[in-house]
Amino acid sequence: MSKYSQTFIGLGSNLEDPACQINNALKALSELPNSKELICAPWYSSKAVGPGEQPDYINSVASLKTTLPQLELLHYLQAIENQQGRKRDIRWGARTLDLDLLLYDNIQHNSDELTLPHPEIQHRSFVLLPLYDLAPELILPNGDKLEELAKQCDTSGLKLMTSDNANK
Ligand code: ATP
Ligand code: CA
Ligand code: CA
Repeated sequence: MSKYSQTFIGLGSNLEDPACQINNALKALSELPNSKELICAPWYSSKAVGPGEQPDYINSVASLKTTLPQLELLHYLQAIENQQGRKRDIRWGARTLDLDLLLYDNIQHNSDELTLPHPEIQHRSFVLLPLYDLAPELILPNGDKLEELAKQCDTSGLKLMTSDNANK
């Protein structure tokens, strides 16, 4: 059995050149210790759902194999967010970078600091679609098939980014 755990990380940015923020985050993720095989899904643009008027987001999901324990990985993700100027003032406000730990193997975990799987996966097309691009056969720890969730979710406001529309 592999000692590496399979994790999926949600990426989002809607401030200060989001494409550059996502690229920088991917580079930082590829340099994490005790980790390998970073793969990023296609990118999507999504309409912000948080408070007030906000710019559109770029969202994607990355797959990463790691031997870092789950909380240590979360702390690395938060350090990357901080390095990229993440401010934590308004909940769900605009941000340079958001890295959510979506899944860590089949672990179900509930503490103040970390909930696994991330509790909003099922409700967010900007998570479900890129996750489905990476892992179409995935079954969530509660038994839900990702394929069903991805096919049923509301994709209004979500657009696959291509080289043609990336700068529009
Ligand atoms: P949401 O969690 O609804 O996507 P958010 O990403 O804007 O909202 P943050 O302000 O980035 O929320 O994080 C708030 C707290 O969530 C963090 O302090 C972190 O400890 C906690 N948290 C709990 N579970 C997770 C997880 N699976 N991934 C990332 N952070 C988590
Ligand atoms: Ca989030
Ligand atoms: Ca977050």
